Amino acid sequence: MPLVKLDENLYILELFHGPTLSFKDFGARFMARAMSYYASNSEHRISNRKGLNIIVATSGDTGGAVASGFYGLSNIKVFVLYPSRRVSELQEKQIATLGKNVVALEVKGDFDDCQRLAKAVLADPKLRSKINLSSANSINIGRLLPQMFYYFLGHAQYLGLRKSYGLAKSLDRPVFVVPSGNFGNLTAGLFAERVGLPIGKFIAAVNTNSGVPEYLRSGKLKVKKTRPTLSSAMDVGNPSNWARIMDLYGGRRDAIKGDIDAIAVSDAETKKTIRDIYKKFGYIIDPHTAVGVAAALRTKISGPKIVLATAYPAKFKEVVESAIGKKIPLPPQLARRAGFEFCSPKIQKKKKQSIVIEPKKEELHKILLNR
Ligand SMILES: *Cc1c(COP(=O)(O)O)cnc(C)c1O
Repeated sequence: MPLVKLDENLYILELFHGPTLSFKDFGARFMARAMSYYASNSEHRISNRKGLNIIVATSGDTGGAVASGFYGLSNIKVFVLYPSRRVSELQEKQIATLGKNVVALEVKGDFDDCQRLAKAVLADPKLRSKINLSSANSINIGRLLPQMFYYFLGHAQYLGLRKSYGLAKSLDRPVFVVPSGNFGNLTAGLFAERVGLPIGKFIAAVNTNSGVPEYLRSGKLKVKKTRPTLSSAMDVGNPSNWARIMDLYGGRRDAIKGDIDAIAVSDAETKKTIRDIYKKFGYIIDPHTAVGVAAALRTKISGPKIVLATAYPAKFKEVVESAIGKKIPLPPQLARRAGFEFCSPKIQKKKKQSIVIEPKKEELHKILLNR
Protein backbone atom coordinates (compact mmCIF):
# COMPACT_ATOMS: atom_id res chain seq x y z
CA MET A 1 0.00 0.00 0.00
CA PRO A 2 2.71 2.51 -0.98
CA LEU A 3 2.31 6.28 -0.84
CA VAL A 4 3.87 7.85 -3.93
CA LYS A 5 5.01 11.47 -3.84
CA LEU A 6 4.49 13.21 -7.18
CA ASP A 7 5.36 16.65 -5.84
CA GLU A 8 5.39 18.46 -2.53
CA ASN A 9 1.62 18.86 -2.52
CA LEU A 10 0.44 15.79 -4.45
CA TYR A 11 0.62 12.26 -3.06
CA ILE A 12 -0.98 9.06 -4.37
CA LEU A 13 -2.00 6.28 -1.97
CA GLU A 14 -1.94 3.07 -4.06
CA LEU A 15 -4.77 0.88 -2.80
CA PHE A 16 -4.88 -1.40 -5.84
CA HIS A 17 -2.35 -4.11 -5.05
CA GLY A 18 -4.88 -6.75 -3.96
CA PRO A 19 -5.96 -9.82 -5.95
CA THR A 20 -8.58 -8.03 -8.08
CA LEU A 21 -6.53 -4.83 -8.41
CA SER A 22 -9.17 -2.68 -6.74
CA PHE A 23 -9.27 -0.97 -3.32
CA LYS A 24 -12.45 -2.95 -2.77
CA ASP A 25 -10.30 -5.99 -1.93
CA PHE A 26 -9.59 -4.46 1.53
CA GLY A 27 -13.24 -4.33 2.56
CA ALA A 28 -14.49 -7.41 0.71
CA ARG A 29 -11.79 -9.80 1.97
CA PHE A 30 -11.99 -8.70 5.59
CA MET A 31 -15.77 -8.89 5.60
CA ALA A 32 -15.81 -12.31 3.89
CA ARG A 33 -13.46 -13.83 6.44
CA ALA A 34 -15.25 -12.26 9.39
CA MET A 35 -18.60 -13.56 8.11
CA SER A 36 -17.22 -17.03 7.47
CA TYR A 37 -15.89 -17.11 11.04
CA TYR A 38 -19.27 -16.25 12.52
CA ALA A 39 -21.18 -18.53 10.15
CA SER A 40 -18.92 -21.47 11.04
CA ASN A 41 -18.89 -21.16 14.84
CA SER A 42 -22.10 -22.44 16.37
CA GLU A 43 -21.66 -20.36 19.55
CA HIS A 44 -21.78 -17.17 17.45
CA ARG A 45 -24.49 -18.24 15.05
CA ILE A 46 -27.40 -15.82 15.04
CA SER A 47 -30.01 -18.36 13.97
CA ASN A 48 -30.15 -22.12 14.12
CA ARG A 49 -30.07 -22.34 10.33
CA LYS A 50 -26.66 -23.28 9.09
CA GLY A 51 -24.91 -21.43 6.31
CA LEU A 52 -25.13 -17.90 5.01
CA ASN A 53 -26.21 -16.60 1.61
CA ILE A 54 -24.66 -13.38 0.38
CA ILE A 55 -26.28 -11.24 -2.29
CA VAL A 56 -24.32 -8.59 -4.13
CA ALA A 57 -25.28 -6.36 -7.06
CA THR A 58 -22.42 -5.08 -9.18
CA SER A 59 -21.75 -2.83 -12.14
CA GLY A 60 -18.37 -4.57 -12.49
CA ASP A 61 -15.73 -3.95 -9.84
CA THR A 62 -17.54 -4.92 -6.64
CA GLY A 63 -18.48 -8.34 -8.01
CA GLY A 64 -14.88 -9.34 -8.66
CA ALA A 65 -13.61 -8.23 -5.26
CA VAL A 66 -16.52 -9.86 -3.40
CA ALA A 67 -16.33 -13.11 -5.42
CA SER A 68 -12.59 -13.35 -4.83
CA GLY A 69 -13.00 -12.44 -1.14
CA PHE A 70 -15.58 -15.18 -0.45
CA TYR A 71 -14.23 -17.81 -2.85
CA GLY A 72 -13.69 -21.19 -1.20
CA LEU A 73 -14.80 -20.11 2.30
CA SER A 74 -16.92 -22.60 4.21
CA ASN A 75 -20.60 -22.18 5.13
CA ILE A 76 -21.09 -19.25 2.77
CA LYS A 77 -22.55 -19.02 -0.71
CA VAL A 78 -22.32 -15.79 -2.67
CA PHE A 79 -24.73 -14.76 -5.45
CA VAL A 80 -23.33 -12.06 -7.71
CA LEU A 81 -25.90 -10.17 -9.80
CA TYR A 82 -24.37 -8.40 -12.77
CA PRO A 83 -25.90 -6.80 -15.87
CA SER A 84 -25.57 -9.01 -18.92
CA ARG A 85 -23.14 -7.67 -21.56
CA ARG A 86 -22.58 -4.43 -19.59
CA VAL A 87 -19.43 -5.39 -17.72
CA SER A 88 -16.01 -5.73 -19.34
CA GLU A 89 -14.84 -9.16 -20.46
CA LEU A 90 -12.20 -9.30 -17.73
CA GLN A 91 -14.65 -8.17 -15.06
CA GLU A 92 -17.01 -10.94 -16.15
CA LYS A 93 -14.19 -13.48 -15.93
CA GLN A 94 -13.42 -12.37 -12.39
CA ILE A 95 -17.06 -12.95 -11.43
CA ALA A 96 -18.17 -15.90 -13.52
CA THR A 97 -15.23 -18.29 -13.84
CA LEU A 98 -14.64 -19.13 -10.18
CA GLY A 99 -17.45 -21.62 -9.50
CA LYS A 100 -17.53 -23.49 -6.14
CA ASN A 101 -19.44 -21.27 -3.68
CA VAL A 102 -19.61 -18.31 -6.09
CA VAL A 103 -22.80 -18.24 -8.20
CA ALA A 104 -22.72 -15.74 -11.08
CA LEU A 105 -26.16 -14.48 -12.05
CA GLU A 106 -26.24 -12.71 -15.38
CA VAL A 107 -29.27 -10.40 -15.29
CA LYS A 108 -30.99 -9.41 -18.54
CA GLY A 109 -31.10 -5.73 -17.65
CA ASP A 110 -28.93 -2.90 -16.34
CA PHE A 111 -27.20 -2.28 -13.00
CA ASP A 112 -30.30 -0.62 -11.55
CA ASP A 113 -32.25 -3.84 -12.24
CA CYS A 114 -29.57 -5.83 -10.38
CA GLN A 115 -29.70 -3.49 -7.40
CA ARG A 116 -33.50 -3.51 -7.34
CA LEU A 117 -33.52 -7.34 -7.37
CA ALA A 118 -30.96 -7.54 -4.57
CA LYS A 119 -32.90 -5.07 -2.40
CA ALA A 120 -36.20 -6.86 -3.08
CA VAL A 121 -35.00 -10.27 -1.89
CA LEU A 122 -33.08 -8.83 1.07
CA ALA A 123 -36.27 -7.11 2.25
CA ASP A 124 -38.49 -10.18 1.80
CA PRO A 125 -39.54 -11.48 5.25
CA LYS A 126 -40.87 -14.78 3.89
CA LEU A 127 -37.61 -15.64 2.18
CA ARG A 128 -35.62 -14.51 5.21
CA SER A 129 -37.61 -16.87 7.41
CA LYS A 130 -36.33 -19.76 5.27
CA ILE A 131 -32.65 -18.89 4.66
CA ASN A 132 -29.93 -16.65 6.16
CA LEU A 133 -29.38 -13.69 3.86
CA SER A 134 -26.99 -10.75 3.90
CA SER A 135 -25.59 -8.10 1.57
CA ALA A 136 -22.00 -7.54 0.47
CA ASN A 137 -22.54 -4.10 -1.04
CA SER A 138 -20.92 -1.18 0.77
CA ILE A 139 -24.15 -0.70 2.68
CA ASN A 140 -22.66 -3.47 4.84
CA ILE A 141 -20.59 -1.87 7.60
CA GLY A 142 -18.27 -4.90 7.53
CA ARG A 143 -16.71 -3.50 4.38
CA LEU A 144 -16.20 0.01 5.72
CA LEU A 145 -14.50 -0.78 9.03
CA PRO A 146 -11.32 -2.29 7.52
CA GLN A 147 -11.15 0.62 5.08
CA MET A 148 -10.51 3.00 7.99
CA PHE A 149 -7.06 1.52 8.45
CA TYR A 150 -5.48 2.70 5.21
CA TYR A 151 -6.28 6.31 6.05
CA PHE A 152 -4.08 5.90 9.14
CA LEU A 153 -1.37 4.04 7.23
CA GLY A 154 -1.45 6.64 4.44
CA HIS A 155 -1.17 9.46 6.95
CA ALA A 156 1.77 7.81 8.74
CA GLN A 157 3.60 7.31 5.43
CA TYR A 158 2.87 10.91 4.50
CA LEU A 159 4.52 12.19 7.69
CA GLY A 160 7.49 9.89 7.07
CA LEU A 161 7.91 11.06 3.47
CA ARG A 162 7.75 14.72 4.42
CA LYS A 163 10.37 14.16 7.09
CA SER A 164 12.72 12.34 4.74
CA TYR A 165 12.43 15.16 2.17
CA GLY A 166 12.95 17.82 4.86
CA LEU A 167 9.52 19.37 4.20
CA ALA A 168 7.59 21.50 6.70
CA LYS A 169 6.39 19.40 9.63
CA SER A 170 3.53 21.70 10.48
CA LEU A 171 1.40 20.45 7.59
CA ASP A 172 0.26 17.35 9.41
CA ARG A 173 -3.37 17.68 8.33
CA PRO A 174 -3.40 16.68 4.69
CA VAL A 175 -6.49 16.86 2.50
CA PHE A 176 -7.75 13.41 1.44
CA VAL A 177 -9.16 13.25 -2.08
CA VAL A 178 -11.48 10.26 -2.54
CA PRO A 179 -12.77 9.13 -5.96
CA SER A 180 -16.38 8.43 -4.99
CA GLY A 181 -19.45 6.59 -6.27
CA ASN A 182 -21.49 5.10 -3.44
CA PHE A 183 -19.36 7.01 -0.88
CA GLY A 184 -18.33 3.91 1.11
CA ASN A 185 -14.65 4.82 0.86
CA LEU A 186 -15.26 8.39 1.97
CA THR A 187 -17.50 7.28 4.85
CA ALA A 188 -14.65 5.07 6.10
CA GLY A 189 -12.44 8.19 6.03
CA LEU A 190 -14.99 10.09 8.12
CA PHE A 191 -14.95 7.24 10.65
CA ALA A 192 -11.13 7.49 10.75
CA GLU A 193 -11.38 11.20 11.44
CA ARG A 194 -13.99 10.67 14.16
CA VAL A 195 -11.66 8.32 16.02
CA GLY A 196 -8.83 10.85 15.92
CA LEU A 197 -6.96 10.96 12.61
CA PRO A 198 -5.93 14.58 11.85
CA ILE A 199 -7.35 15.38 8.42
CA GLY A 200 -7.57 18.83 6.83
CA LYS A 201 -10.59 18.18 4.67
CA PHE A 202 -12.13 15.53 2.43
CA ILE A 203 -12.68 16.17 -1.23
CA ALA A 204 -15.21 13.85 -2.84
CA ALA A 205 -14.06 13.55 -6.44
CA VAL A 206 -17.03 12.44 -8.52
CA ASN A 207 -17.98 12.13 -12.17
CA THR A 208 -20.86 13.94 -13.85
CA ASN A 209 -23.45 11.40 -12.62
CA SER A 210 -23.23 12.31 -8.95
CA GLY A 211 -25.97 14.33 -7.26
CA VAL A 212 -23.70 15.23 -4.33
CA PRO A 213 -22.07 18.49 -5.60
CA GLU A 214 -25.55 19.88 -6.25
CA TYR A 215 -26.72 18.74 -2.81
CA LEU A 216 -23.86 20.61 -1.11
CA ARG A 217 -24.69 23.72 -3.15
CA SER A 218 -28.48 23.76 -2.85
CA GLY A 219 -29.56 21.13 -0.32
CA LYS A 220 -31.39 19.11 -2.98
CA LEU A 221 -30.27 15.61 -3.89
CA LYS A 222 -31.78 14.95 -7.30
CA VAL A 223 -31.87 11.45 -8.70
CA LYS A 224 -30.85 11.44 -12.33
CA LYS A 225 -30.62 8.54 -14.73
CA THR A 226 -26.92 7.64 -14.88
CA ARG A 227 -24.95 7.71 -18.11
CA PRO A 228 -21.83 5.63 -18.75
CA THR A 229 -18.56 7.52 -18.12
CA LEU A 230 -14.88 6.59 -18.26
CA SER A 231 -14.92 6.13 -14.47
CA SER A 232 -17.65 3.49 -14.69
CA ALA A 233 -17.33 2.19 -11.12
CA MET A 234 -18.41 5.66 -9.96
CA ASP A 235 -21.52 5.96 -12.14
CA VAL A 236 -23.85 6.55 -9.19
CA GLY A 237 -26.40 9.35 -8.92
CA ASN A 238 -27.72 8.79 -5.40
CA PRO A 239 -25.00 7.19 -3.24
CA SER A 240 -26.14 4.39 -0.94
CA ASN A 241 -23.89 5.65 1.91
CA TRP A 242 -25.23 9.20 1.77
CA ALA A 243 -27.83 8.44 4.47
CA ARG A 244 -24.95 7.35 6.70
CA ILE A 245 -23.09 10.64 6.11
CA MET A 246 -26.24 12.66 6.79
CA ASP A 247 -26.65 10.73 10.02
CA LEU A 248 -23.02 11.36 11.08
CA TYR A 249 -23.69 15.11 10.81
CA GLY A 250 -27.23 15.11 12.16
CA GLY A 251 -28.48 16.12 8.71
CA ARG A 252 -26.80 19.53 8.91
CA ARG A 253 -25.55 20.53 5.46
CA ASP A 254 -23.30 23.31 6.77
CA ALA A 255 -21.55 20.80 9.04
CA ILE A 256 -21.09 18.38 6.13
CA LYS A 257 -19.70 21.22 4.00
CA GLY A 258 -17.20 22.03 6.76
CA ASP A 259 -15.63 18.58 6.33
CA ILE A 260 -16.43 17.59 2.74
CA ASP A 261 -16.11 19.38 -0.56
CA ALA A 262 -17.33 17.76 -3.80
CA ILE A 263 -15.84 18.32 -7.24
CA ALA A 264 -17.31 16.87 -10.44
CA VAL A 265 -14.94 15.91 -13.24
CA SER A 266 -15.90 15.35 -16.89
CA ASP A 267 -14.62 12.56 -19.14
CA ALA A 268 -12.54 15.06 -21.15
CA GLU A 269 -10.85 16.32 -17.98
CA THR A 270 -10.32 12.73 -16.78
CA LYS A 271 -8.52 11.80 -19.98
CA LYS A 272 -6.48 15.00 -20.02
CA THR A 273 -5.40 14.36 -16.42
CA ILE A 274 -4.18 10.83 -17.26
CA ARG A 275 -2.17 12.32 -20.12
CA ASP A 276 -0.79 15.29 -18.14
CA ILE A 277 0.28 13.22 -15.13
CA TYR A 278 2.03 10.74 -17.42
CA LYS A 279 3.85 13.55 -19.29
CA LYS A 280 4.85 15.44 -16.18
CA PHE A 281 5.78 12.61 -13.81
CA GLY A 282 5.97 9.45 -15.98
CA TYR A 283 3.32 8.02 -13.63
CA ILE A 284 0.27 6.15 -14.95
CA ILE A 285 -3.14 6.45 -13.29
CA ASP A 286 -6.47 4.76 -14.03
CA PRO A 287 -9.61 6.81 -14.93
CA HIS A 288 -11.06 6.67 -11.37
CA THR A 289 -7.83 7.85 -9.76
CA ALA A 290 -7.63 10.49 -12.51
CA VAL A 291 -10.96 11.94 -11.36
CA GLY A 292 -9.33 12.28 -7.93
CA VAL A 293 -6.16 13.87 -9.25
CA ALA A 294 -8.15 16.30 -11.41
CA ALA A 295 -10.13 17.38 -8.32
CA ALA A 296 -6.88 17.74 -6.31
CA LEU A 297 -5.44 20.00 -9.01
CA ARG A 298 -8.62 22.06 -9.40
CA THR A 299 -9.59 22.70 -5.76
CA LYS A 300 -8.94 26.11 -4.24
CA ILE A 301 -7.99 24.49 -0.93
CA SER A 302 -4.22 24.88 -0.55
CA GLY A 303 -1.70 22.50 0.99
CA PRO A 304 -0.78 18.84 0.51
CA LYS A 305 -3.35 16.42 -0.93
CA ILE A 306 -3.38 12.65 -0.71
CA VAL A 307 -5.35 11.11 -3.58
CA LEU A 308 -6.61 7.57 -3.03
CA ALA A 309 -5.74 5.46 -6.09
CA THR A 310 -8.64 3.04 -6.36
CA ALA A 311 -7.78 0.81 -9.34
CA TYR A 312 -4.68 -0.52 -11.06
CA PRO A 313 -4.31 1.31 -14.42
CA ALA A 314 -4.09 -1.87 -16.55
CA LYS A 315 -7.58 -2.77 -15.37
CA PHE A 316 -8.87 0.05 -17.59
CA LYS A 317 -6.29 -0.46 -20.29
CA GLU A 318 -8.26 0.90 -23.28
CA VAL A 319 -8.96 4.31 -21.71
CA VAL A 320 -5.46 4.69 -20.31
CA GLU A 321 -3.72 3.64 -23.53
CA SER A 322 -5.79 6.01 -25.63
CA ALA A 323 -5.06 8.87 -23.19
CA ILE A 324 -1.28 8.45 -23.12
CA GLY A 325 -0.98 7.19 -26.71
CA LYS A 326 1.04 4.17 -25.67
CA LYS A 327 0.58 0.49 -24.88
CA ILE A 328 0.88 -0.42 -21.22
CA PRO A 329 2.22 -3.95 -21.08
CA LEU A 330 1.97 -5.73 -17.78
CA PRO A 331 5.39 -6.32 -16.22
CA PRO A 332 5.81 -10.12 -16.35
CA GLN A 333 6.83 -10.37 -12.68
CA LEU A 334 3.50 -8.77 -11.83
CA ALA A 335 1.45 -11.00 -14.10
CA ARG A 336 3.08 -14.05 -12.54
CA ARG A 337 2.62 -12.99 -8.96
CA ALA A 338 0.18 -15.41 -7.40
CA GLY A 339 -2.07 -12.71 -6.01
CA PHE A 340 -2.66 -11.13 -9.39
CA GLU A 341 -5.06 -13.83 -10.52
CA PHE A 342 -6.93 -11.23 -12.57
CA CYS A 343 -4.03 -10.68 -14.95
CA SER A 344 -2.80 -14.21 -15.25
CA PRO A 345 -3.24 -16.07 -18.53
CA LYS A 346 -5.04 -18.73 -16.50
CA ILE A 347 -8.13 -16.60 -15.88
CA GLN A 348 -8.12 -15.37 -19.48
CA LYS A 349 -8.60 -18.95 -20.66
CA LYS A 350 -11.16 -20.01 -18.05
CA LYS A 351 -14.72 -20.70 -19.19
CA LYS A 352 -17.62 -18.62 -18.00
CA GLN A 353 -20.28 -20.42 -15.96
CA SER A 354 -23.18 -18.08 -15.31
CA ILE A 355 -26.94 -18.48 -14.89
CA VAL A 356 -28.91 -16.06 -17.08
CA ILE A 357 -32.02 -14.66 -15.39
CA GLU A 358 -34.78 -12.17 -16.17
CA PRO A 359 -34.84 -9.20 -13.77
CA LYS A 360 -37.68 -10.79 -11.78
CA LYS A 361 -37.77 -11.43 -8.06
CA GLU A 362 -39.41 -14.85 -8.51
CA GLU A 363 -36.50 -16.15 -10.58
CA LEU A 364 -33.98 -15.10 -7.96
CA HIS A 365 -36.15 -16.64 -5.21
CA LYS A 366 -36.15 -20.00 -6.94
CA ILE A 367 -32.39 -20.01 -7.33
CA LEU A 368 -31.75 -18.97 -3.72
CA LEU A 369 -34.05 -21.69 -2.37
CA ASN A 370 -32.71 -24.46 -4.60
CA ARG A 371 -29.00 -23.96 -4.15
C1 LIG B 1 -16.13 1.28 -6.30
C2 LIG B 1 -15.09 2.16 -6.87
C3 LIG B 1 -15.02 3.53 -6.56
C4 LIG B 1 -16.07 4.21 -5.70
O1 LIG B 1 -16.01 3.82 -4.36
P1 LIG B 1 -17.25 4.13 -3.37
O2 LIG B 1 -16.85 3.54 -2.06
O3 LIG B 1 -18.44 3.46 -3.98
O4 LIG B 1 -17.42 5.60 -3.33
C5 LIG B 1 -13.97 4.27 -7.08
N1 LIG B 1 -13.04 3.71 -7.89
C6 LIG B 1 -13.07 2.41 -8.21
C7 LIG B 1 -12.02 1.86 -9.11
C8 LIG B 1 -14.08 1.58 -7.70
O5 LIG B 1 -14.11 0.29 -8.03
